[in-house]
Amino acid sequence: MKCPYCREGRFYRSHPYDLMHAGDTLDECPACRRSYTVEYGFYMGAMYLSYGLTVLSGILTYVITRFVFGVEAMVWQLIAVGFVVLVGAPLVYAYSKVLYGNIFLPYKGPSDPNYRPVHRPDRWK
Ligand SMILES: [Zn+2]
Repeated sequence: MKCPYCREGRFYRSHPYDLMHAGDTLDECPACRRSYTVEYGFYMGAMYLSYGLTVLSGILTYVITRFVFGVEAMVWQLIAVGFVVLVGAPLVYAYSKVLYGNIFLPYKGPSDPNYRPVHRPDRWK
């Protein structure tokens, strides 16, 4: 999961399954030094993507267990869907946030070593 601006630097502080820091983005890209914080609450819209990805993963799990593995007992289908949704939740959350960033933060090309970010006051900290 890379920077939406340059696709080079890391986006997250740590791995999605590092639950103490799940979803913590870096303040700025380590490669291009552009800020990931556009405005307060910018990544709130990622919850819609997270919801959609969770529903999609549940439907895909149901289809795979029902039609590929031939499981007909509803209780095992529910267990499979619940397991995939719960275990995949940190990954879905991480992907939804970086996907949201890639939708709304424009790609600005590879990192420029001469690039100097515009100073922004830390208004929301
Ligand atoms: Zn970058």
